[in-house]
Amino acid sequence: MRDTTRPDRRTGWRAGPRPRAIPGEGALFGMRQTDNELRLGAATVQVDYPAWVADVVGGTAVYRDDAAKMRLAIALSRANVEHGTGGPFGAAIFEKESGRLVAVGMNSVVRLNNSTLHGEMVAFMMAQRRVGAFSLSAPGLPVHELFTSCEPCAMCLGATLWSGVKRVVYGAGREDASRLQFEEGPVFPASYRYLEDRGIEIVRDLLRDEARAVLELYRAKNGKIYNG
Ligand code: ZN
Repeated sequence: MRDTTRPDRRTGWRAGPRPRAIPGEGALFGMRQTDNELRLGAATVQVDYPAWVADVVGGTAVYRDDAAKMRLAIALSRANVEHGTGGPFGAAIFEKESGRLVAVGMNSVVRLNNSTLHGEMVAFMMAQRRVGAFSLSAPGLPVHELFTSCEPCAMCLGATLWSGVKRVVYGAGREDASRLQFEEGPVFPASYRYLEDRGIEIVRDLLRDEARAVLELYRAKNGKIYNG
């Protein structure tokens, strides 16, 4: 059935076909209550890890140097491809001084039908949930850093600023991702300067060849390009 409903003027949400009021449920946010997903009071979004994550992370709690941290991000990206659970991107967040692993992330866009779930975004969400704060530089917290197997896209670079991490280390570059037709969005040299001016250190091309090999693996497996 063709969707003929118009977006709600206040929320911009578009109802599914033929909204139908449910007797007795009344109005919510000025909209007619319907029997579809617009039943907003019941709406939740769940973000979780694929089953293999414990096998990759293992029992290691402390990572001694940048190479070890990046190898974890790359291992996550590779496992995501090998298990068919998402795009070839992995990320991890550490306490900078102690090297303690706080959270990991892997691209989950296709698995969870959510365009925002890039590896870095999942890592931010999980880390913030774990420390119990919406910023990883909240008072009393140690300095946190993000390791990501590929250069962040526009969304993730923006989220980096709000996340509270003070250091970003990436492996493969945007040219490597765009060779697979992954689009990185509006990221400019000025974008990086903006972050650096706010005290965020950027480290580029660490173990780039190892990170790029996972992109090539994804291409060899004809993995889905979901935003290009
Ligand atoms: Zn991203």
